[in-house]
Amino acid sequence: MLMSVKKLKTGLVKNKIKGLALDIDDTLSFTWSYWAQSLQEKFGGPKDLSLTEIRTKYQLVQNVPHWQSREAYEWMEMARKSNEIQELLPLIENSNKMVERIDKIIPVVCYLTIRGQSVIPGTEKWLRKHGFPKAPVIAKPDDLPLEEGSIWKAETLRFLYPHVLGIIDDNPALINYLDASYKGTIFLYNNLEIPQTPLKVIQCKNWEDIPEKVVNFLQT
Ligand SMILES: [Mg+2]
Repeated sequence: MLMSVKKLKTGLVKNKIKGLALDIDDTLSFTWSYWAQSLQEKFGGPKDLSLTEIRTKYQLVQNVPHWQSREAYEWMEMARKSNEIQELLPLIENSNKMVERIDKIIPVVCYLTIRGQSVIPGTEKWLRKHGFPKAPVIAKPDDLPLEEGSIWKAETLRFLYPHVLGIIDDNPALINYLDASYKGTIFLYNNLEIPQTPLKVIQCKNWEDIPEKVVNFLQT
């Protein structure tokens, strides 16, 4: 387990704090939109489809046929490793205000992301710029392949429970890597299809919904 994760757990145990983790990409930052817009400008895109329609149709940018060239993949690699690009990402509307509200109900104790550790500086600047609560950014080890990101995230969540009671995340794939032995809660943001699961998953249509769902969760 990463030193930063162990350190976080030790601190939470010592100070008897229980809180929530937050995903960043497409939960707090509209990373998809920045990527899609940049890729479209550089490499073209499906004609007659708006960016929203492209997202509905293909979901991941990697699935869009126009963006499957070597040059497009190289741009994606560059974007993943660029601290400057993390700083430029648009904010998902109101996510910062809602997180501020949630932090008063239950502390946000970390940002847990499958971005690589090398982009922690740009990520921290972005979080500060938008007024998110101060908490450590736990990022995937740089040498771990991207495809193993969700497995790593699931293991980290398991390790941190019950000091980290759950996560707000947009990625339903995370659920596939956690089994029934995980007692934490996944607040699944902006994703209306929940895979069949024995886990505690709370569907959250938009950010405005989440503070109330957090309050309800703490009362049960
Ligand atoms: Mg995400």
